[in-house]
Amino acid sequence: MHTAHNVDLAPFTTFGLHAVAETFVCAETVDDVRAALSDRGTKPLHILGGGSNVLLTGDVKGLVLHVSVKGRGVIREDAETVDVRFGAGETWHDAVTWCVEQGWGGLENLALIPGTVGAAPMQNIGAYGVEQDACFLALDYVDIETMDVQTVDASFCAFGYRESIFKRALRDKVVITSVTYRLSKQHVVQTHYADVRNELAAMHCMHPTIRDVYDAVVAIRRRKLPDPSVIGNAGSFFKNPVVDEATFHRLHVEHPELPSYPQPDGTVKLPAAWLIDRCGWKGHREGDAGVHAHQALVLVNHGSATGARILELATRIAEDVHATYGVTLEREVNVW
Ligand code: FAD
Ligand code: NAP
Repeated sequence: MHTAHNVDLAPFTTFGLHAVAETFVCAETVDDVRAALSDRGTKPLHILGGGSNVLLTGDVKGLVLHVSVKGRGVIREDAETVDVRFGAGETWHDAVTWCVEQGWGGLENLALIPGTVGAAPMQNIGAYGVEQDACFLALDYVDIETMDVQTVDASFCAFGYRESIFKRALRDKVVITSVTYRLSKQHVVQTHYADVRNELAAMHCMHPTIRDVYDAVVAIRRRKLPDPSVIGNAGSFFKNPVVDEATFHRLHVEHPELPSYPQPDGTVKLPAAWLIDRCGWKGHREGDAGVHAHQALVLVNHGSATGARILELATRIAEDVHATYGVTLEREVNVW
């Protein structure tokens, strides 16, 4: 366990915003997590993984607990499936890469998502038509109040579209220390997103393997998505709104060109990027806070923006979209 005081968090988050943590603990084992929690007393707690979904709006009082519990291993295997447990501090992309290299399928569409395994259940990360709950089996967490370690399954976690119990009732109440996924040896690839289909076609891939899908996703993401090491960002700032059928009908009559994705329950998912772009925000810049020139859903730090400035910009964007389309944008990024 490493403890430090007055630590600049800029290198620990992908927005690259400067903010000072009063106390910073890097926990490498479950015992470290427990020790840090009991040393904290009544001070506020912030749990940090790879910092790729956090916006810092000022200095952080109390304890920032950087979860760095490593390790991975097979805990059960048969002819069709394999269960693999990852320490929460493992890098997500490395975990996905390792699974693909072993020939275990299920997570390949989620290649190159930044961050840690421990944060993946938090917003049930998803990309290109797959969410992590497709392979999720269980996770372990430390209950911050009792210090007990609990193992919970998918039904407990209440996964939804970029949602889970950890974003709601259990926010800042538990520290996830490991996650177990059930991967498949008999692969069913998911290629229904146009970008993935087109990339595979460009690769002349008629019968894609999980390795092909992984390679396609990595290539698309490298080409399309802003790299935080080049320009500070936390990916999509807002969730894609999901509206009821009546709202969609009204919008479709007024804006027949609005793209839409019907959901199994009758609701309709709308691309937030389209709404923001149509309101004229794509590429907008105020000092060093801005909206990415090619990805309207991604707010960026051009260099020395403050988190407060980025948050204020995000608020105005959401207000504008609401005033123009009557659709509420919900923040995906966690604001500290
Ligand atoms: P952090 O940013 O450190 O934390 C996020 C939240 O989880 C915080 O509230 C934190 O308190 C909590 N948390 C972190 N670790 C733990 C833990 N061990 N126990 C309890 N709580 C914890 N997301 C997607 O869903 N799909 C994408 O395709 C995607 N693409 C992205 C592309 C880019 C360029 C960027 C910058 C981000 C992208 N994201 C995407 C968002 C982000 O990568 C994910 O949400 C990721 O899971 C965050 O992981 P992290 O370790 O960085 O979490
Ligand atoms: P895109 O492919 O240009 O698509 C735009 C939006 O339309 C996406 O947000 C996606 O919703 C939706 N969409 C596209 N095809 C769809 C289909 N066949 N069925 C249902 N919905 C569909 O998106 P992009 O910006 O390049 O991102 C590609 C993928 O990476 C997306 O899945 C996106 O979620 C993910 N991503 C996420 C983040 C993040 O921070 N959360 C950042 C970058 C990329 P979904 O978002 O629901 O998939």
